[in-house]
Amino acid sequence: MHLNEPDVHDLVGIGFGPSNLAVAIALEESGRPLRSLFFDRKPGFAWHSGLMFDGAEMQVSFTKDLITMCNPRSRYSFLNYLAEQGRDRLAKFINLRTFYPTRVEFNDYYAWAAEQFDDIVRWGTEVVEVTAVPGEHGTDLLRVLVRDLAGGETSAVLTRNLVIAPGGVPNVPEGVELGERVFHASETRERLETGFGDLSAPYHFNVVGSGQTSADVFMHLRRSYPNARITTNIRGFAMRPEDDTHFVNELFLPEFPDWFYRQSGEFRQRIIDDYGLAAHTGVSYDLIPQIYREYYEDLSSRRGALTLHRLTELVGAHSDADRATATYFHLDSGATSQVDADAVILATGYRYPMPIPALAGLAGHLRMETPERYAIRRDYAIESAEDFRPRIYLQGFAEATHGFSEVLLSLMPVRAAEIIESIAKNVSAESR
Ligand SMILES: Cc1cc2nc3c(=O)[nH]c(=O)nc-3n(C[C@H](O)[C@H](O)[C@H](O)COP(=O)(O)OP(=O)(O)OC[C@H]3O[C@@H](n4cnc5c(N)ncnc54)[C@H](O)[C@@H]3O)c2cc1C
Repeated sequence: MHLNEPDVHDLVGIGFGPSNLAVAIALEESGRPLRSLFFDRKPGFAWHSGLMFDGAEMQVSFTKDLITMCNPRSRYSFLNYLAEQGRDRLAKFINLRTFYPTRVEFNDYYAWAAEQFDDIVRWGTEVVEVTAVPGEHGTDLLRVLVRDLAGGETSAVLTRNLVIAPGGVPNVPEGVELGERVFHASETRERLETGFGDLSAPYHFNVVGSGQTSADVFMHLRRSYPNARITTNIRGFAMRPEDDTHFVNELFLPEFPDWFYRQSGEFRQRIIDDYGLAAHTGVSYDLIPQIYREYYEDLSSRRGALTLHRLTELVGAHSDADRATATYFHLDSGATSQVDADAVILATGYRYPMPIPALAGLAGHLRMETPERYAIRRDYAIESAEDFRPRIYLQGFAEATHGFSEVLLSLMPVRAAEIIESIAKNVSAESR
């Protein structure tokens, strides 16, 4: 295989959510003539559409958009997006006096930025497999097999580098069978629209989980279904606030991954255990009193529509035609109970499973740190055998070695710029 074949890409991206969108921007801003192509299985850009509730706010400042941390003068900034919308949007946003736009508005900003890369994104295509293309002295290229989700046909492209950013996979507790009435929170909007269209009905919803998503789903149900009963089941004693106070927030400074990466595995784990709540399992500080007020008003009006079960773990659930059944284990009493509801909504988080199924054919080339975790270099590439020259970069998978910013938006532009820099070095080394 000759390296300068015209259909060989320098970079192929799996997924075109915010992470790889930031990579596309970083590439353009670097001015490097790298040939790139991105695949995303969605029909068009949509950021967590199942959780896009009216009024829900961003948990990071708008200055942590796709580029400002790296280049505050970029045309891809949130402020430039506002300016380009006309009708005094920029002036009126400034007059709002907030750092926290709604998620709906940020999704529109992302979609506006994504549109500008339409020529290098293939929407509605799913990457199903990546294999090595053997060369004379090892592997120089990867073959990426892609399925068109509308027509079903498959095709392949060749690349020197791969950037994988597929997002998290819904975490479904053991014993739970997903169905029409038992679903992960990431599908909330679609499921409610199709299965729970009567907004005045006295539905009984069971929400499982105590993080931001559970809080958002609760508020959405409360506003949309005034006659519904909502039972929230949490494993701990209480929902706890995210800590984004100033010193704690320095976990998200651009130099943090460098420092974190240099520490021992044991020490890194200690930091993760100590600050996980601060970083991404807590609820926005302002939302907790609003939720508490809902409970209080329910109590004072004697409606009895809201229940909080604490120290309660979901151990089973299934869906029948007209109801959902959930089984809970009560950590304090040791008792088990069974509950019927109209729906069980799992706000139980996301996982980043490794090894990545699409890379199964490359297992012999890629180094694992543990059976569940790749060995990931500082530049986010998976460590590989010496005669395997393509680089496979991961976004979202390296919390254990690079820190909390991995699954969050804060350092996306910085990570993207580092990945582009590393790819550029790899491509120029290859072509020498
Ligand atoms: C509701 C919600 C709100 C959030 N709010 C914040 C916040 O305010 N602040 C913050 O810091 N973080 C927030 N996060 C976390 C962070 O924003 C997300 O993790 C972010 O979306 C990650 O971007 P991503 O591009 O890595 O993944 P995703 O946004 O999940 O995008 C991945 C893309 O890859 C595509 N894909 C996956 N597999 C394939 C495949 N095999 N072939 C083709 N395409 C594929 C998917 O279709 C998807 O479009 C939030 C998360 C959620 C769920």
